[in-house]
Amino acid sequence: MSLKVKLRPSKYRTRADCILCGEEFMLSGVRATLWDEKERIGNVCYECFKKGSNEFPSLLQAHVQRLRREADDLEKLFKRSFECPTWETFQELEKLTDLFDKQFYGSEDYEDAFVQLEQKFKEILHEPKED
Ligand SMILES: [Zn+2]
Repeated sequence: MSLKVKLRPSKYRTRADCILCGEEFMLSGVRATLWDEKERIGNVCYECFKKGSNEFPSLLQAHVQRLRREADDLEKLFKRSFECPTWETFQELEKLTDLFDKQFYGSEDYEDAFVQLEQKFKEILHEPKED
């Protein structure tokens, strides 16, 4: 059975990822999707669509090779050790930014206040003030 591209109207003009090339694209009013019988596999971008179905295998193959390289790069990372602030610290910073937004969003002092906010983050995170 061959895989089929179906065209349907799209309700939303949102970003989507192409299952063939892996690139992100904006949906227009027409959505092209790839199907294996009743199973929807993914969106097809307009660049891939224009190239035609004869190009689909090589587009997909190139995409798979990129994903394998990415997976190899990620695999190297899990052998490393990790450092991360606590969730409590994250929430503390989020409260700080909520207050900041209420006070300064849309105000003339926003840029200056933002520099101070960045400094406050560094204080809380015990990071050096290098700039
Ligand atoms: Zn594509």
